[in-house]
Amino acid sequence: MSGIFIDVELSAEAKVDAELAQKLSDACPVDIFAASDGGTSIVDSNLDECILCGLCVDAAPAGAVEVKKLYDGTSLKR
Ligand code: SF4
Repeated sequence: MSGIFIDVELSAEAKVDAELAQKLSDACPVDIFAASDGGTSIVDSNLDECILCGLCVDAAPAGAVEVKKLYDGTSLKR
Protein backbone atom coordinates (compact mmCIF):
# COMPACT_ATOMS: atom_id res chain seq x y z
CA MET A 1 0.00 0.00 0.00
CA SER A 2 1.20 3.53 -0.70
CA GLY A 3 0.47 6.84 0.89
CA ILE A 4 -1.77 9.37 -0.83
CA PHE A 5 1.14 11.56 -1.88
CA ILE A 6 4.20 9.34 -1.56
CA ASP A 7 5.21 5.76 -2.26
CA VAL A 8 8.64 4.27 -1.58
CA GLU A 9 9.91 1.30 -3.55
CA LEU A 10 12.88 -0.88 -2.67
CA SER A 11 14.71 -3.16 -5.07
CA ALA A 12 14.45 -6.89 -4.37
CA GLU A 13 18.05 -6.87 -3.10
CA ALA A 14 17.45 -3.88 -0.85
CA LYS A 15 14.43 -5.48 0.84
CA VAL A 16 16.51 -8.34 2.24
CA ASP A 17 19.72 -6.42 3.06
CA ALA A 18 19.83 -6.11 6.87
CA GLU A 19 22.82 -3.73 6.81
CA LEU A 20 21.07 -1.39 4.38
CA ALA A 21 17.90 -1.66 6.46
CA GLN A 22 19.71 -0.18 9.43
CA LYS A 23 21.18 2.63 7.29
CA LEU A 24 17.75 3.53 5.93
CA SER A 25 16.19 3.38 9.35
CA ASP A 26 18.90 5.69 10.70
CA ALA A 27 18.68 8.09 7.74
CA CYS A 28 14.95 8.76 7.51
CA PRO A 29 13.79 11.53 9.86
CA VAL A 30 10.16 10.41 9.74
CA ASP A 31 10.60 6.64 10.29
CA ILE A 32 9.42 5.32 6.96
CA PHE A 33 11.90 2.41 7.07
CA ALA A 34 11.70 -0.33 9.70
CA ALA A 35 14.81 -2.50 10.02
CA SER A 36 14.89 -6.13 11.10
CA ASP A 37 17.31 -9.02 10.69
CA GLY A 38 15.33 -9.97 7.60
CA GLY A 39 15.78 -6.59 5.91
CA THR A 40 13.70 -3.47 5.41
CA SER A 41 9.98 -2.98 5.56
CA ILE A 42 8.10 0.19 4.72
CA VAL A 43 5.92 1.78 7.39
CA ASP A 44 2.91 2.59 5.21
CA SER A 45 1.25 4.81 7.79
CA ASN A 46 4.28 7.16 7.74
CA LEU A 47 4.68 7.49 3.96
CA ASP A 48 2.88 10.80 3.64
CA GLU A 49 5.18 12.30 6.30
CA CYS A 50 8.07 12.13 3.80
CA ILE A 51 9.82 15.50 3.48
CA LEU A 52 11.64 14.55 0.28
CA CYS A 53 15.04 15.06 1.92
CA GLY A 54 16.66 12.38 -0.26
CA LEU A 55 18.73 10.96 2.62
CA CYS A 56 17.42 7.43 1.99
CA VAL A 57 18.36 7.60 -1.69
CA ASP A 58 21.84 8.87 -0.77
CA ALA A 59 22.31 6.15 1.88
CA ALA A 60 21.53 3.31 -0.52
CA PRO A 61 23.31 1.93 -3.58
CA ALA A 62 22.15 3.23 -6.98
CA GLY A 63 18.81 1.71 -7.96
CA ALA A 64 17.98 0.47 -4.46
CA VAL A 65 15.48 3.11 -3.31
CA GLU A 66 12.93 5.17 -5.23
CA VAL A 67 10.74 7.78 -3.54
CA LYS A 68 7.73 8.35 -5.80
CA LYS A 69 5.79 11.59 -5.74
CA LEU A 70 2.37 10.27 -6.64
CA TYR A 71 0.98 13.78 -7.10
CA ASP A 72 3.23 14.73 -10.02
CA GLY A 73 4.63 11.45 -11.33
CA THR A 74 8.27 12.29 -10.61
CA SER A 75 10.57 10.56 -8.14
CA LEU A 76 13.78 10.79 -6.14
CA LYS A 77 16.23 8.07 -7.17
CA ARG A 78 19.70 7.48 -8.44
S1 SF4 B 1 13.19 11.24 1.26
FE1 SF4 B 1 13.75 11.61 3.43
S2 SF4 B 1 11.79 11.63 4.52
FE2 SF4 B 1 11.40 10.69 2.51
S3 SF4 B 1 11.62 8.48 2.84
FE3 SF4 B 1 13.63 9.25 2.19
S4 SF4 B 1 14.74 9.72 4.08
FE4 SF4 B 1 12.56 9.51 4.62
